Order: sequence, then structure tokens, then C-alpha cells
Amino acid sequence: MPDHLHPTHPLALAPVAAPPSTVDGFVREFLLNLNSGRGVTLSNASATDKYFALAHTVRDYLMARWLEDLRRQREVQDKGVAYLSAEYLLGRQLDNNLLASGLSEIAEEALAACGIDLDVLRQQEVEPGLGNGGLGRLAACFIDSLATMGVPNVGYGIRYEYGIFRQTFVDGQQAEQPDAWLSLGSPWEFAHPEGAQTIAFGGHTETYDDEGVPRSRWIPAWNVQAVPYNYMVPGYQNGRVNTLRLWSAVATNSFDLRVFNSGDYEEAVRAQTYAENISKVLYPEDSTPQGKELRLQQQYFFVAASIRDVFDVMLPADFELTNLPERIIFQLNDTHPVIAVPEFMRVLVDEKKMDWDAAWAVTQQCFAYTCHTLLPEALEVWPVELLGRLLPRHLEIIYRINEDFLVAVREKFGDDEMRIRDMSIIGEHPVRSVRMAYLATVAGAKVNGVAELHSQLLRDKVLPDFNEFYPGKFINVTNGVTPRRFVRLSNPSLSGLITDALGTGWVTDLERLRELEAYAEDPEFRTQFAEVKAANKRLLSDVLRERDGFEVSDGHMLDVMVKRLHEYKRQMLKVLHIVTTYEGIISGRVAVGDVQPRTFIFGAKAAPGYVMAKRIIHLINAVGSVVNNDPRVEGKLKVLFPPNYNVTLAERVIPAADLSEQISLAGKEASGTGNMKFALNGALTIGTDDGANVEIRELVGDDNFFLFGMSEPEVESLWAKGYKPSSFYNADSGLRRSLDLIAAGAFSGGDRSMFEPIVSNLLYDDRFMVLADYSAYIGAQAKVDAAYADQDAWTRSAILNVARCGYFSSDRSMRDYIERIWHTAPSF
Ligand SMILES: *Cc1c(COP(=O)(O)O)cnc(C)c1O
Repeated sequence: MPDHLHPTHPLALAPVAAPPSTVDGFVREFLLNLNSGRGVTLSNASATDKYFALAHTVRDYLMARWLEDLRRQREVQDKGVAYLSAEYLLGRQLDNNLLASGLSEIAEEALAACGIDLDVLRQQEVEPGLGNGGLGRLAACFIDSLATMGVPNVGYGIRYEYGIFRQTFVDGQQAEQPDAWLSLGSPWEFAHPEGAQTIAFGGHTETYDDEGVPRSRWIPAWNVQAVPYNYMVPGYQNGRVNTLRLWSAVATNSFDLRVFNSGDYEEAVRAQTYAENISKVLYPEDSTPQGKELRLQQQYFFVAASIRDVFDVMLPADFELTNLPERIIFQLNDTHPVIAVPEFMRVLVDEKKMDWDAAWAVTQQCFAYTCHTLLPEALEVWPVELLGRLLPRHLEIIYRINEDFLVAVREKFGDDEMRIRDMSIIGEHPVRSVRMAYLATVAGAKVNGVAELHSQLLRDKVLPDFNEFYPGKFINVTNGVTPRRFVRLSNPSLSGLITDALGTGWVTDLERLRELEAYAEDPEFRTQFAEVKAANKRLLSDVLRERDGFEVSDGHMLDVMVKRLHEYKRQMLKVLHIVTTYEGIISGRVAVGDVQPRTFIFGAKAAPGYVMAKRIIHLINAVGSVVNNDPRVEGKLKVLFPPNYNVTLAERVIPAADLSEQISLAGKEASGTGNMKFALNGALTIGTDDGANVEIRELVGDDNFFLFGMSEPEVESLWAKGYKPSSFYNADSGLRRSLDLIAAGAFSGGDRSMFEPIVSNLLYDDRFMVLADYSAYIGAQAKVDAAYADQDAWTRSAILNVARCGYFSSDRSMRDYIERIWHTAPSF
């Protein structure tokens, strides 16, 4: 660039064009990145060097598009979606970005020309595990879909230095290792320390007279810097690149200096550590938030930074604030970001000096809330004492919102004190607390559940008073998964087969999979489909051998249950099925020759403090080591539990599965998305009428789904009658023998105490009614065995599952959000 080039010169305004999309162009760019990016030549480059150079090469191709989209987002006055999520479970980026940029084949050839196996470089990437499970993965699927649909969007979240822990097993028990995903750096992120926002905490509030207008202001006690890190979110081969902006906490200079100047160096360092703790680690509880101060700090930290960012980046300084709803919608992914509501009000009223009522009217149009649960323990509350100490002005604002709300409730419902108390944003028991789901419901233009059944239960059971008060506010948007990652990338063989039949359009128009229905009747297609499944099983077998030293036997049905370990998901029901089958063999009641060979695969992390979940993990491993080594079983049953289930492992396991276990107690799983991934990859589901299972079954048909267990109303009525798990134990000899075998120490070397807490919990408490659904589950598994015996019929059902599940594309979910909540449109 000539040094006289002015900032408004066209060359300075436009991004430099991408390198040529040819093998030669790619090789040259790759070698350049090795030399000038890593400071090595090809001959002395390590695998890490090559991976980084490859990642940077892919970035180079996407960069011009990204810069252009960033520019347009600043210029074009369209409505934007700010997706606020404390979690993004992204999975590996390299392959996705190669696919999105259409460079997969070119890269493969270019690397081969350099004597490098692309697959080896793929393995170098540490996946960013910035989420716990389904909720974080959903956020990642959604931003992929928005980019692919060309909808301007910024995903906002936290750049945790340590993501979800790495799980290992020590004597069959979970041990947690820190996930140092950044230890080698990340080639996908762009730090912008110059764009840091100052985020304040603590202190007190005061009122003052602003030329005759009484106002409040917040005098905080301390602050931290929120440094944005940008990540590319490329659309699928459409030239669009959206942005994921994750915030990282660093100490502010002023903060350091104040202490530093007092001469207390140690204190200055300690204070810096304190500030930087905010984005240090992801809380590993899925569906069971702890009321920890640091967690509230994290939540406020990232939403306050994001709101400032929206004002700075998206809006001109003189923007007419009453028009905000035309420019921005904040989607709250669960209650984690709900503190954004009082922060937005604080900015409008205290800083921008807007009138309260006008600000509230704007706020109610600028937020929408997605509820992700039905478990009461998952609904976040913050003690008033804590919230007031950390965010005193926000607490005042929440009180004011609540006051106005309760006045309106009285107007509509009369002075029904019980109802007022039930609907108050402030709960009184066990301690005075802010109910974040209520705050989100009052503030949100729309509140959505994540599957039909879940949304209906939200309206009728969880928030019925709110539904009556706000008719039309509660809606459903059924979750989805991105077909790019979970079919196209993770299952290339199936993708090839589909593309041969239908062309490539299905990748962005998943309903086109319907056209496969006809192919289900074609014997040759069925043979090819069965070959794809067999090939995927061999691939998985290679992965598990290399990763964990496991052997997957040929000819086994792969029966897979992978998801977070939680009692409501009922991994115990699966364990009881395995123990029942095993007990049948060793007692001689079942001839081993009659047993359908099965490999049971588990994948599950337990929250480190969730004692019962960790015991269940221990039991699964214990059952595995007995069953796998008992010669009487003759290798017919195998239990494999590869540690550290994550997106990378999901991508390998799901395409190989025959049977998908979706066996939560009806009324507990909000949606599930694992269920969708399996069905789209041609696994048949054994499942309860819960979450999105209901919709899967409606679409694929009863003949292609193994339904079992109580429905949600049946669960309710059993509770009402008084549930006694022991009566189910007494009534079913198979259940009795299985539980007795566990209690007798058959899986704990004779130690009767090891798994006693699990057994007695099932017999005397059993909150999730495992014993009540046991016999229906065993019955359904017998039907699975019978069905699997006819391989051709099974394959036909599997094809119909794929053909009929196009609805579960996250592109469809995003269209639903756009039409029913956001009222935005694809632009540019
Ligand atoms: C899809 C996914 C989940 C969610 O699984 P559910 O069965 O819906 O609970 C959790 N973890 C990972 C890694 C996933 O890919």
C-alpha cells in the first residue's frame, strides 16, 4: 500500500480479494502462512504448525466476505438479531469452515501435494467446549443457520478460558480435568482489545436533580474490561459471514493503579486475578444452576458488554431511541442473559435520559425469551441480597418493573393476593429472590418453548397465570439441528448417497429429504443405505480403538445413549435393561444363542457436584467391566462408555447408531436435539412421548418408532394417586432380579454398599419413575430385537426416518423465529 494512501481511498476501504480458489493458489497461501505466520518451512513444520497454517489459509479465503458483511452490518439500517447466550458448544471449526467456503476438495488436494494428510491436521484441533450440552449446541446450530440464510446476526457470549471439563475415568469413576482449549492459541479468533468495554459492579445508587427532573445514577465500586474476540460464522457456500463475539475479562488499568499506587503489589495482582476470574471457567451444571456470585458476574458482564456493543456498532449516535424495536431484537437463550433487561432499562433511563414508560415500551419490544426447561430446579433465581450488592441500580429497576407489573395484574385479576404473590417477580421463599424467568416473561415480546409438548406445558402448568395475563405471548418454536454439521460433515457417506439421489439442494432445504421416501421402496437403494451404515460403524470402530482401546464387534446392533448424565434423562433405565438381559443369560433363563448381539454405547458427563449422576456413571462402567468380561455372554453383549462425550465424538457416534435412546420421563425433556441428530442419520428411536420425540414420532410414523412408557398425563395421575416404586419392584420379577443383582454386589466385587444409594433411591424415592416405566421399556426392547432380525425392513424404516425428519433442520427453527418473533428478513 503506498504510504500516502488516505483512509478514504478505495483501496483502504475495500478488503483485499481472497486468493484464487485453485489448488495452486491454496498451496501458495498455505506455505505463506507456514512461513510468515508460524516462522517455519514445510520441511520442519510440526503438525500444530501445519494445522494453524491451514486454519489461517481458510480464514484468508473467508476474510474479504467477512469484512464486507461487517461493513454492511454497520451501514445497512436493517433489523438485526442479537442472540444472547452464555453458552456456545461449537465443535471443531476447520471442517465446517472448509465446507462453508467450498474449499474442502481443494484443500485436500493442496495438502496432498505438500505431502500432508488433511485428516491428521483435523485431529489437531481442540474443540471449543464453551457449553454444557443441548442448550449451547442449539446456539451454535442457530448461528450457523442464520449465516446460511443470510440473516444479519451477532451471537454474543463469553470466551471462557476453560470450557466444559475433560472427563476421564479413574477406576470407573468420573474425574474432571481442566479444558485448556486455548493453550496453543486459537487460529479462529480475532482479539480486539482496543474495542474493550468497561463493565462496572457494586457500589451504590443516588438520586439527583437533572434540571428539574429527578433521576437516579449508579456509583459503582469496581469495574473490569470486556475485550471482544470475534469469530467468523460462515454461511454454507453463500458468501456470507456473520460474527460470533465472545467477551473476555481483563483487569482495568485504573483498578490496578489505584491499588498499585498504594504500594501493595500483591494486592494489585490479586485484584487483577479477581477481575479476570469472570471469564475463567464455564459453570459445568446443566439444568441445575447454582446461585453463585461469580455466575451472576459472568451473566452481567457479557450482556452489559453486548448491549454497549449494539449501541456502539449498530446505531448512529443520534439514533431516535423510540425506533429501537425497528433495529434490534435481543433473543434471550434461557434465563442466563435476563439481567440484560434491567441493564437495557438502566442505559435508556439513566444514561440516555429516556422517560421510564417510553423506555419500558421499547424494552418490551426489543427482547424475547426462550425457555428451555420444565424442571423447577432449573429456573434461575437470584437472592435479592446478592443482586443488590453486585448490581444495586438493577435491583431498583427490577423492583420498579415488578411494582408496575403487579398493579396491572391487580387491574386485570382483582386483589387476589395469592395470585399476586405467585406472579411476583420477587419470590419470598426460602430467601427473597428475583425470579429470572418471570422477569423475562414480563419483559419479552414473546416467550417460546422449544417443542410442542414443552410449550403447551409452559402455558398450562409452569406459567399459566402469565399465559392468562398475556394472551398470545406464549408460542412454540421447535428446536432443530444444522444439517451442515450433523449430516453433511459428520456423515459424508450418507450425504453422498442422498446427493446422488436428490442433488445437493437438500443441505440448505432439508424438507427435500422427503423425496427419499420413494427410495425406501428400492431394494438397491436399501442395500446402499445399509452399506453406508456398516461403513460408519467401521469408522466408529477405528475411532474407538484408537481413542479408547475399545473393540466394536461386527454384526452387533449399536444401541446408543449419549447426552448429559441426569436422572430425568434416565440412563438408569438403560442400565436396568442391560442388567436384565445379562441376568437372563447367566441364570440360564435365556439361551445365549437367542440373544441379539448388541453393543451399548454411552456418552455422558455429570456435573462435578452431582453425586447421584456420578454414581450412575460409576455403575455403568462397573456393569460394563463385568458384562464385557463374562465368558457366558460369549461376546453377545458389550457396554462401551468412551469418556469425554463432546461434539467431536457425537459426530462419530451418531452416524453409526442403529438405535437412539430417548427415554426421559414424559414431561421432563423440553425438546432434546440429540433425538433429531440420530433420526436424521438413520437410527430408529426408542423413546417416550416427551419433548420433540412426540413430533419425531408423528412425522416418521408409529411403525418406524419404538414408543413406550407413560404419557405426561399418566405421569401426573400416577403422582396424584401416590407413586410407590416398591410396588413395581414387587410386581415384576425381572425388575426384582436386576435390582437385587446390583444390590448384591455383582458389579462391585461383592461390595454391597457401593451402589446401594442408587438402588434405595429407586426403591424409595424414584423422582423420575424409572421403575414405573421399566416393564414397558423391556417390552419395547423385545420389539426392537424382533424388528432388527429383519435387516431389510429395519433399513427401510431407517430410510423413512431420514426422509421424514427434514423438519428438524435449524434453518426451519430460524424461519419460525424470524416469522413469529423477530420479524426480520434475510438482507443484502
Ligand atoms: C446434541 C448434543 C447434546 C444434546 O443432546 P440431548 O440428547 O438432546 O440431550 C449434548 N451434547 C452434545 C455434544 C451434543 O452434540
